[in-house]
Amino acid sequence: MSSGILSIDLDAIAANWRALDRMTDPATQTGAVVKADAYGLGIDRVAKALAKAGARRFFVAVAEEAVALRRALGPGPQVCVFSGHMAGDTGLIRDLDLTPMLNSIDQLTRHLESLPGHPFGIQLDSGMNRLGLEPLEWQAVAELALSAGPEMLISHLACADEPDHPMNPRQLEVFRAMTDGTGVPRSLSATGGVLLGPDYHFELTRPGIGLYGARPFAKARPVVHLTLPVIQLRDVDAGETVGYGNSWTAERDTVVATVAAGYADGITRHLSNAGQLWAGDSPCPILGRVSMDLITVDVSHLAEVPATLDLLGPHQGVDDIADTVGTIGYEVLTNLGHRYLRRYSGGPAA
Ligand SMILES: *Cc1c(COP(=O)(O)O)cnc(C)c1O
Repeated sequence: MSSGILSIDLDAIAANWRALDRMTDPATQTGAVVKADAYGLGIDRVAKALAKAGARRFFVAVAEEAVALRRALGPGPQVCVFSGHMAGDTGLIRDLDLTPMLNSIDQLTRHLESLPGHPFGIQLDSGMNRLGLEPLEWQAVAELALSAGPEMLISHLACADEPDHPMNPRQLEVFRAMTDGTGVPRSLSATGGVLLGPDYHFELTRPGIGLYGARPFAKARPVVHLTLPVIQLRDVDAGETVGYGNSWTAERDTVVATVAAGYADGITRHLSNAGQLWAGDSPCPILGRVSMDLITVDVSHLAEVPATLDLLGPHQGVDDIADTVGTIGYEVLTNLGHRYLRRYSGGPAA
């Protein structure tokens, strides 16, 4: 077998959800963000594991993502859509019983006219300038919107991963000014906001990345393990080069392992001559360019070369890879490819 094995620990995802849930007051509900196929880990298995752990409100980015989610969850749990009610979404919202987070006066009008009495929430822009009604728009329509009985009022923090950033209290103040006294359940915090403390929790939180074991939830249990088969070993003499573009030249005789995964599997080319794989506790530097299906690594120092090397494991998580290439764990996770054999452990049966 020559495909990598991506192991996903559903018990760790459930444990991370519970840990984030325990950080808030018992009266605060903890939702679960499962957009982008549960951050690349498989919405079906992940959502079932989260529902079993106790999550009752789920969030996706766009209505189409809710098809697989509703199939996994069955009727009952709330499925919320961040992009709101777009033209063409009405059938899905009705048939799958979705709760759109309405982002504009247009969406509000579309929803109330096409599906009167159907649940909805409202997204407010407290300063991020990405989605949601701005304070002046909200002022104009708040009375009408509130009389239609929204399920929740939400907003999103731009800098929650930086606890001391002045944007956090500024957005909190704007959100409070827009929502105090409405009596409607409120939600401001994703993972970062949960960690900011009780002022930011309100009635519902919406963690995503923390469930999947990455920053800013430093105490998260790791969730993914990625192990890649070694398909060939060769001795490279001093002076020879390895891979496309001759970008690495051996300074001394080197044992090179060729491993079966590449940028087509979401392993960014930015790891060329930069990252490392692991043989148990020993790091093995990546030599030359990451190609579409293959990576070449230095295993000269190993007494015995194992059949597989780890890209993600106990010594190197998604945040470590992200740091090496200048991105964030979110991007490393959501890029994980579809050629790996995926093995789930824990959680309810498939
Ligand atoms: C993605 C997203 C979340 C979850 O954010 P994390 O940082 O992954 O916890 C919550 N709310 C909104 C509006 C989002 O877009």
